[in-house]
Amino acid sequence: MSHKIAVLPGDGIGHEITEQAVRVLSALGLDLTLEQAPVGGAAYEIHGHPLPPSTLELARSSSAILFGAVGDWKYDTLARELRPEQAILGLRKALGLFANLRPAILYPQLANASSLKPEIVSGLNILIVRELTGDIYFGQPRGVRTLEDGPFKGERQGYDTMHYAESEVRRIAHVAFQAAAKRNKRLCSVDKANVLETSQFWRDIMIDVAREYPDVELSHMYVDNAAMQLVREPKAFDVIVTGNLFGDILSDEAAMLTGSIGMLPSASLNASNQGLYEPSHGSAPDIAGKNIANPLATILSAAMLLRYSLNESTQADRIEQAVQRVLEQGLRTADIYEEGTTRVTTSQMGDAVLNALK
Ligand code: NAD
Repeated sequence: MSHKIAVLPGDGIGHEITEQAVRVLSALGLDLTLEQAPVGGAAYEIHGHPLPPSTLELARSSSAILFGAVGDWKYDTLARELRPEQAILGLRKALGLFANLRPAILYPQLANASSLKPEIVSGLNILIVRELTGDIYFGQPRGVRTLEDGPFKGERQGYDTMHYAESEVRRIAHVAFQAAAKRNKRLCSVDKANVLETSQFWRDIMIDVAREYPDVELSHMYVDNAAMQLVREPKAFDVIVTGNLFGDILSDEAAMLTGSIGMLPSASLNASNQGLYEPSHGSAPDIAGKNIANPLATILSAAMLLRYSLNESTQADRIEQAVQRVLEQGLRTADIYEEGTTRVTTSQMGDAVLNALK
């Protein structure tokens, strides 16, 4: 079956890294049509908007989106709605991308890159499933008000609202259970049910959905404990599912466990498994155009694209194994280089993955 994939390189290192991922996708022998469009600052320069209608239309009509990164300091003075980062928010909203999947994988060859002891993190392979469109980040009402009574009467107060509707929790639960079913069949739901009503409700729904997945073992953990366990014994986890706020913090913590931001892919999916796939890092303007950025996070994002949106798990495995092989060969871009390994450029890393695919 033929699939259209939107390729949105964006800004900074976006072009260099997506180019390598496109080479890898094109080498698999699949029936793919890859169509490119500008996004972020690059789109602002051409169309006066970070997410022009033509780019959004391409994204809507594609099975999946391969996204590079957006942003540059030179756009910091633009009105908020015109800044490059608004393109990601716009795509999430327009496509209903509510499930963010962020694997934190530490290849044994890179164990020294982590700030934790190698024996604690070497071989780490966990997946964080973060709800992306609800929670306190979007809850209404919110704002600043003047209090009319109570102990702080007359003072100004900042406030936000945390809430989750049942269907919002159910749909992220299904994504997480299905992901766990494809892995080691253990799912840990992280909440703050000892304090928050929203969290108790979240937990009740998780328990209810678990009945549909008898093969997956569900456990629960308070978010403060999860933050501790992630640095104490991260390999004890398989899949973690959590809300937008807790997931924002825990997924960054898990990313740092691996010590190499240039290695981490991510996926944001909607209800029909259409997804946006991007590296977890930004546009790295400090190294843009130098052919030294690490393209592996983007290449691994392409593998996730195949697995989750195109149902091509075997091809996804092929890419992941090829990445493993180039690391075994001792090839490293500057960000993961250490003595005794061979330093390569962005395009040389792409060449090496292509060779390893054969
Ligand atoms: P960043 O992730 O771009 O860079 C942080 C550091 O990591 C830099 O030193 C950079 O050189 C390095 N780095 C990042 N990716 C790398 C790679 N693939 N290979 C080698 N080194 C890499 O974060 P930042 O500097 O805080 O932000 C730069 C711009 O990116 C900002 O405009 C920010 O808004 C934007 N940003 C975009 C996204 C996104 O597109 N999803 C995410 C985060 C930040």
